[in-house]
Amino acid sequence: MTPSDHPLRPSTLCIHAGTYLDERTDGACSPVFPSTAFAFPNAASENFYPRYFNTPNQRVIEQKTAALEQGEGALVFGSGLAAITTLLFTHLKPGDHAVFQTDLYGGTFLFVQELTRFGVAVSFAGTAGEFAASLRPETKVLYVESPSNPLLRVVDLAAIGQLGRERGVLTVADNTFATPINQNPLDLGIQAVIHSGTKYLNGHSDLNAGVIVSSAEVIQRTTEYAVNHGGLLDAHACFLLERGMKTLALRMKQHNENAARLAEFLLNHPAVAAVNYPGLPCHPDHAIAARQMRGFGGMLSFELRDAAKLDDVLAAFRLVLPALSLGGVESLICVPSRTSHRKMSREERQRAGISDGLVRVSVGVEDFEDLLEDFLRALEVAGCC
Ligand SMILES: *Cc1c(COP(=O)(O)O)cnc(C)c1O
Repeated sequence: MTPSDHPLRPSTLCIHAGTYLDERTDGACSPVFPSTAFAFPNAASENFYPRYFNTPNQRVIEQKTAALEQGEGALVFGSGLAAITTLLFTHLKPGDHAVFQTDLYGGTFLFVQELTRFGVAVSFAGTAGEFAASLRPETKVLYVESPSNPLLRVVDLAAIGQLGRERGVLTVADNTFATPINQNPLDLGIQAVIHSGTKYLNGHSDLNAGVIVSSAEVIQRTTEYAVNHGGLLDAHACFLLERGMKTLALRMKQHNENAARLAEFLLNHPAVAAVNYPGLPCHPDHAIAARQMRGFGGMLSFELRDAAKLDDVLAAFRLVLPALSLGGVESLICVPSRTSHRKMSREERQRAGISDGLVRVSVGVEDFEDLLEDFLRALEVAGCC
């Protein structure tokens, strides 16, 4: 192979992009700059301050995520929801209308309810066709999540991106489940990408963070509002997030592989009625997923045939932890009807396709054989028919 000017590839970017080069020591890692007070010699110099989103450790995360998502710029926040609320408040005002995907992350859904209190009209859509049908003259934002929680539905991002361009509407994709390793919405024509850095980006279930990646123009405009909203991430957390992100590509390979194998196993288990994983050919959105994703991710959900056995099944796991959240190295399992979607009525859940026996799994990076044995043991309790 001869050397070329090929842009750096994702695993390399995870490790190297954005690293703050410490010229004093030539150390391999970015130093931590914890100061909240920086010299401000004159009006012409930049005033560094964490809430201005401009300190060195924040810049490291911004450059790394921008490089991975192929965006012109990024902003790092104290949580995924801080990123979402800041982006939406920046681009919506009373009288505007926004269209959101039907199966939104629970926290995003609750915030959308709040938007209506500020005079923003909202509606919901599932497919690209439904998004198109929901457009009004005052529509300013189209917001999607793909794959979605907890049914792993996949939206045609290129179609949404094109719709936004044609109608001059900002398009936003929450890329938390896919990660930039498996999918790059900006390359598909979406204008702004959201990440809950709490999940796969950090990957160790030990901090909260959020990121927006977009064009220089959107980032500049959002920064002007962000300093008034205050959702910053401090230097120490930025450093931990940077450390987590160095292994993102490596972790995602194992997440993708473990989830694909587990999905296949569950599909063939008599105690399981259905499996939702975009990598399975029987998944309703598999064709779109195969087009726009490089890997199908570490999230899946499945339906237990006999929901009455759920508690016994959950109690039988030894390795897999019954817990909320997702995207960490450890496998977690939760029941959406009792956790993320408990605030919906049973009928609303039924309509959304979330049955009482639906179980969501964040498949970790353990040895697959150990996960398999744990699932075999737990599902044995459910008996088969
Ligand atoms: C967790 C999550 C969020 C919110 O992120 P926080 O860091 O908890 O604020 C948003 N979207 C998705 C898809 C998530 O999984």
